[in-house]
Amino acid sequence: MSENEQLTSKENIRRLVEGELPLDVIHEMIRMTTKDEDRFVKYLEVLQEKVDWDEEILARISDHLYVVSKGPGDRVVKCDCGHELGDYRVNWKMEALLYCRRTEEEIKEVFTVHGPDPEYVEVREFYCPGCQAQLAVEVVPPGYPFVFEVLPDIDAVHAANGRQLEDAAEDWFQDRTPERAAEWIEEVNA
Ligand SMILES: [Zn+2]
Repeated sequence: MSENEQLTSKENIRRLVEGELPLDVIHEMIRMTTKDEDRFVKYLEVLQEKVDWDEEILARISDHLYVVSKGPGDRVVKCDCGHELGDYRVNWKMEALLYCRRTEEEIKEVFTVHGPDPEYVEVREFYCPGCQAQLAVEVVPPGYPFVFEVLPDIDAVHAANGRQLEDAAEDWFQDRTPERAAEWIEEVNA
């Protein structure tokens, strides 16, 4: 095994993902002039080995959340606990549990010093309905739409790493959240 191969071994990638790789080794990795060709595949394999389910991981979007394939034409957001939060093109926050802090008293429970002013903003905490893990926090003016943090162009990322996904298509990389919101409004008004 060459020095570079050792540096980017699957074991090192696993330790990197777990936050266990020493900083000097990470710096060595960053300084590599020739990157290892299969690093993306190795990274996905490491992620796949961390979870208890079998759906293929296409991308990781946060500490707990992944975009997975449930078969051709079906890409959803899935929590590491196994709970699914719908089509990945719709902001997953629409399917999460929400706790919203609107009063000074509620905000003080989590901001011990210099909390935001409830006259201007609210604090939204999003939780997984399956495992209750906190998935995100956003501080925004009341009424502001849920912030859509990550919408990866999955086909492009895979293509850049020499992988052609079976169900690659033009209409994957688009925000479908407004359509979902419109469906809700129709349901409420029905
Ligand atoms: Zn979960």
